[in-house]
Amino acid sequence: MIIVPEREIATLVSPADCFTAIEKVFASMAKGTAYNFPVIREAIGHADALYGFKSGFDRETLALGLKSGGFWPGNVEKGLTNHQSTIFLFDADSGRCRAIVGGNLLTALRTAAASAISIEHLARPDSRILGVIGAGHQSTFQLRAALDQRHFEKVVGWNIEPSALGRLEAVAAEKGIPFESVDLDRLGAVADVIITITSSFAPILKAAQVRPGTHLACMGTDTKGKQEVEAELLAKASVFTDEIAQAISIGEAQHAVAQGLLGASDIVAIGSVINGTHPGRRSPEDITLFDGTGVGLQDLAVASTAVDLAIARGVAMELNF
Ligand code: NAD
Repeated sequence: MIIVPEREIATLVSPADCFTAIEKVFASMAKGTAYNFPVIREAIGHADALYGFKSGFDRETLALGLKSGGFWPGNVEKGLTNHQSTIFLFDADSGRCRAIVGGNLLTALRTAAASAISIEHLARPDSRILGVIGAGHQSTFQLRAALDQRHFEKVVGWNIEPSALGRLEAVAAEKGIPFESVDLDRLGAVADVIITITSSFAPILKAAQVRPGTHLACMGTDTKGKQEVEAELLAKASVFTDEIAQAISIGEAQHAVAQGLLGASDIVAIGSVINGTHPGRRSPEDITLFDGTGVGLQDLAVASTAVDLAIARGVAMELNF
């Protein structure tokens, strides 16, 4: 059995590696050759923690396994990350444990890869201004991966506490791109692409604030009750997602579906666009919206990449298990 510790991930796996792995698994999901198992998520009644599993199987790459993890709100005071994840891979032929991989950084990288893939396949090619709503832990990963997908000339950002926007400004500066802190009206009026990455439980961005031609990657809503954009926005957009079943139950689409503004059959798996069986954006005026809910197969895909790279570079720890 192989162990790839959390400390190795940053030097082993790049955003580009994750983009490739996630694009491939989204395509397999749309073809039906990879599927996610039902998600388990429980409040364990200790340390105020939410704990669970995301799992699945990809018949093309034979990635089988699960990500175990959750949210421990008291971790910050202990100098630890609140979100804690570990990915377990199993040999699809024997069921033996193949690898244990640190999943904290990989979770951020695979989530950023998902929105970057949506930008690559759905945003207008002439997109120049990138808007980011949210400035928490995930936001810098999102921004870094998105900036590689188009020739962005400016980043505009909004956060409920504007003081946190400095971390987005720093990433933009790394790439030599100007950054402006804006209100939501201005963000919607100027941005060609908007990423939402907050833990909000009420709509932040209104449908009327988004102009035709915008692509949105809504990445923060991964739980029942969370919401980042007005449900009416999904009614007037072409809606894409990683997995339709998750989008309508725990994703941004849950609200539009509950209000009867959108049906499951209106939502397209982004893998169909990657596979070329759906055209994606139909016109420069189309509003496209990617509802990124986060699936277990993403975790297995990037963990498999980490294992392959660790073996190739001689940093995999081998254990007779
Ligand atoms: P974080 O706690 O570090 O940051 C949260 C952000 O949301 C901050 O910018 C905060 O100011 C903002 N926020 C909180 N409450 C708000 C409100 N009521 N209105 C507006 N903004 C508010 O969290 P993070 O690690 O950056 O994660 C952000 C979100 O992404 C979380 O909801 C998380 O569960 C989700 N997430 C999704 C995926 C996925 O695959 N889709 C993966 C990881 C995390």
